Amino acid sequence: MKFGGTSVEDAAAIRNLTDIVKKEIPRKPVVVVSACAGITNQLLNAAQLASQGKKEEALQVVIAIEGRHKKIARDLFDGDTERFINKHITSQAEELSALVNGVVVLGELTPRSLDAFAAYGERFSSFIIHHYFESQKIKSFWVDARSFMKTDEQYTKAAVNFDATEQLLKEIVQLKIDNGYVVMTQGFIGSTHSGITSTIGRGGSDYSAAIIGALLNAEDIQIWTDVDGILSADPTVVKNAKKIKVMSFSEASELAYFGARVLHPETILPAVKKNIPVRVLNSKNPNATGTLIVSTPKTDKRCIVKSIAYKEGITLVSIVSTRMFLATGFLENVFDVFHKYQTVVHTVATSEVSVTATIDNVKNLSHIVHELQEFATVTITDKKAMVCIVGDNLRNSPGLAVKMLGPIADININMISQGASEINLSFVIDEEQVDDVVLRLHKELFSNADQFPEIFSN
Ligand code: ADP
Ligand code: ASP
Ligand code: MG
Repeated sequence: MKFGGTSVEDAAAIRNLTDIVKKEIPRKPVVVVSACAGITNQLLNAAQLASQGKKEEALQVVIAIEGRHKKIARDLFDGDTERFINKHITSQAEELSALVNGVVVLGELTPRSLDAFAAYGERFSSFIIHHYFESQKIKSFWVDARSFMKTDEQYTKAAVNFDATEQLLKEIVQLKIDNGYVVMTQGFIGSTHSGITSTIGRGGSDYSAAIIGALLNAEDIQIWTDVDGILSADPTVVKNAKKIKVMSFSEASELAYFGARVLHPETILPAVKKNIPVRVLNSKNPNATGTLIVSTPKTDKRCIVKSIAYKEGITLVSIVSTRMFLATGFLENVFDVFHKYQTVVHTVATSEVSVTATIDNVKNLSHIVHELQEFATVTITDKKAMVCIVGDNLRNSPGLAVKMLGPIADININMISQGASEINLSFVIDEEQVDDVVLRLHKELFSNADQFPEIFSN
């Protein structure tokens, strides 16, 4: 059971979470929590301020973080328990202030230090919730995820070592589950083999929960968030988006990969390996059924599209060969350059002598362009967005592109690609047109959603 930031944001949310967990105690849950909403951003902000030498401002942020958690403790506890929790929060805040001072003195902020800051949020929230569980007579065991979630040293987006993590989970966590404890731990954070704190990427608590669930062979992986499930589009853009009752692992992963924030892009992978169903549920509406994600859901072949996702901040890199490489040689050379600068290419459209690639990480773009220019002409276009239509039945739907893109025939499309999985159709447009395009597509493509009551609900 993973609870996101808004599901742990204050005392009311924590009480609510506790009721949800209580009902699942017979199923022996492991509870994975995020930092309280906004805290991770504040921690990273404190780190940035410190690196700019703005010590007082950074310390003010630490005080705000301390105050926020103490307020939650005041609302949930009293007497000795409140004093004990407050003492803990104070000592954690002192450590954070010491980190601020360290960064101010050094005047530099490494990814490793950023992770040291970021990893406090989940520890604060899980500590408070664990003690609240105890106060509610839940037999709870708090475990620091850094003791089992083993990662490499790519700080801020570390890769998890599944073998080491599985071994440690069995030793540390399984034992407690077997002894009747509800295990309470943190998403997002881990540690390297030498024990240095790491994190697995923003929004990574979903992924942590899926890893823990898969490695412990859970019956299901529950992602508790602040919407009724996975919706047919981002509800902040499409107010009347439909809830998807059931969808496939592949549909969910394409959606996550193409920008639907509701799930971290890697969440589905561990579940797929063990074929464990994933449920996306609303902690503010716990009786709603949510979205069930399974490997092969029963589907109605007439329902082509499940959801529309989008990703802003996309840059298009168009590369035209200036020399006559063999086709293989050209592509190899192009991708070598992206690989060398660790820049992920999302989609590509190619011909024998030209490639258009989309990227969202432009940190090394100038180096990339420089190297590509040794054998190609390169054009960069930024402020683009990728819109992606997802559905298992997009596969083998003839005449699809015309049908899908008809409603936006007047929009200039820079690039279209149908992924190898054939269950997504994605295209690149100007960033400023995203809302309009998503709204228009949604209106058109979901006008018949009521015909599929087993797939969508309002
Ligand atoms: P949490 O803190 O619980 O992990 P997130 O903010 O990361 O929550 O993700 C939930 C949010 O994702 C929703 O509030 C919603 O605004 C956004 N979202 C974007 N696309 C979708 C979608 N297709 N379905 C549901 N939610 C979406
Ligand atoms: N707290 C982390 C973040 O804000 C991880 C998460 O919430 O999933 O990115
Ligand atoms: Mg999230």
